[in-house]
Amino acid sequence: MAKVTSYGGASMVTGSCHLVEIGSIKILIDCGMIQGELWQENYQPFGFEASKIDYLILTHAHTDHIGRVPKLVKEGFRGEIIATEATLDIAYIMLLDSAVLLLEEYETQLRKALRRGDEALVQEPLYTKEHVEQVFAKKRRYAHYDEKIKIAPFLELSFHNAGHIMGSAYLSLFFKEENGEEKRVVFSGDLGSKNRLLLNQLTPLRQANTLFIESTYGDREHRPLKESIKEFNEVIVQTLQEGGNVVIPSFALERTQEILWLLHQMHQEGLLQNCHVFLDSPLAIEATKIYHKYPSELNKELGLHVSLGDDPFSFPQLHLTQRRKDSMEINDVEKKAIIIAGSGMCTGGRVLHHLKQRIWNPKNAVVFVGFQVKGTLGRDIVEGEQFIRIYGEEIKVRAKIHTINGFSAHADRSDMLQWIQKMQGLEHIYLIHGEPDKLELFKVYLKENTESKVHIVKKNETIYV
Ligand SMILES: [Zn+2]
Repeated sequence: MAKVTSYGGASMVTGSCHLVEIGSIKILIDCGMIQGELWQENYQPFGFEASKIDYLILTHAHTDHIGRVPKLVKEGFRGEIIATEATLDIAYIMLLDSAVLLLEEYETQLRKALRRGDEALVQEPLYTKEHVEQVFAKKRRYAHYDEKIKIAPFLELSFHNAGHIMGSAYLSLFFKEENGEEKRVVFSGDLGSKNRLLLNQLTPLRQANTLFIESTYGDREHRPLKESIKEFNEVIVQTLQEGGNVVIPSFALERTQEILWLLHQMHQEGLLQNCHVFLDSPLAIEATKIYHKYPSELNKELGLHVSLGDDPFSFPQLHLTQRRKDSMEINDVEKKAIIIAGSGMCTGGRVLHHLKQRIWNPKNAVVFVGFQVKGTLGRDIVEGEQFIRIYGEEIKVRAKIHTINGFSAHADRSDMLQWIQKMQGLEHIYLIHGEPDKLELFKVYLKENTESKVHIVKKNETIYV
C-alpha cells in the first residue's frame, strides 16, 4: 500500500507537491511555487521533513512544479533528484531567474522599509542563487521516456511523455503489495493538449489502477489551434501593413518558442517583409537554446525541418536582445516591429517598457497568447481597461488588443477523457491541481463518462492507494 499526501497543488492550481510513501521510501513528486494571492505561503513549513525525503521527482520545469526545490534543499533535502535531462536543464535557468527576481524584490522592499524605518520586518528572499547551485550539485538521475527505473526490489517507476512542455513527463509508480499483487499508480503532472505546435503528443497508457490527475482545464474545451494560428497571422499581417508595431507579452518557456515557430513559417510564406522581430527576454533566449538541444523531443514536422538544417526558431528578421541597452534601443524602431517580451501577464519584466512605449498608439497591436490571471496588468488590459499605470505613469490604451486563447499547453477535458478512457483497470481517479469550482465540474464530467470512482483531493489530505 502507498500513502499519498498532497502538500500543495490540491484544491489549488499552483504549488504542486505530493509526498508518496511506500514501505520505508519517501518520494516527493514536484515541489512547486505557490503563485498569486497566496504567495506568502511559500515561507510556511512544507508539512514534512525535507531531510527525510529519499527521492525528488520533477514532472516538468514550470515554476508551479519546481519553484520551491531550492527551499527544499535549503531545509535539508539530501536525496536524489530524478527527472528528464531537458527538465533539469530548463529547471536550472528557471530557478536562477527566479532567484534573481526574489533578490530584486527583496532589495526593493528593503529600500522602502528603510525609508519607513521598519526594515526589521522585511523577509529574506525565499532562496538565493547559492541554493539553486546546491540543487544542481545534488545526486541526480536522468529519466528516459518509457524506461523503468528500479528504486527498490518492490518499487519501480517510469516517465512517459506528457506533451505539455519540453521535457515534461507523467509518472507511473509500480509497487508490489504484500500479497504479491502489482499496482500501478499514475501521477499526471501537467498534460499537454493534442495538436501541440512543437512537441510529440501525450503518450497513451493502457493500464493503471489509480490516477492522480491535474484538472486545470477540467471544465472546458479549447478552441481549435488552427483558428488561433489564423487569427495570429491576420493580426500580424494587418498591423504591419498599416505601419504599426506588435507587442506580444509571452512566457519564456514553450509559448515563446511556439511564437517563433509561427513567425518562422510566416517568414517562409513571405509575410514578414521589411519588419524586425525582437526576442527581448534573456530567459526566453536561454530557454530556446534548450529547445535546440533536444530535437528528438520535437514533433515530426519540426524534426523534419531540423534534419534539413533549418532552424525552426530562427529567421532573418529575428534579433535577440540580451542586454538591457539593446532592449531600450527597440524604442527607436518606429514601425513594423514585432516585440516578444516577458512577463507573459505583464506583471514585470521588459514588456512593461514596450507597453509604455506602444500601447497609447492606435496603429499598434498588443497580442496576448496566454491565460491572464485576475489581478495582473495583462488581465486588466484584456478586460478593456481604458487607462493603465506603468512605472507610475497613467497611459491611455489605444492600441488594438487581441486575445488568442487556442495556444494552451494544457489538455482540455476531452483530451484528458480520451487519455483516461484508454486505461484498463482504472478504479480510482484523484483530482489535483485545479480551482475548486472547476474540480467539481470535472468530477461530474468524469463520473458521467468513466466507471472509476472520482475524488477531489484536499490540501494535506492523505490517500491510501
Ligand atoms: Zn505546467
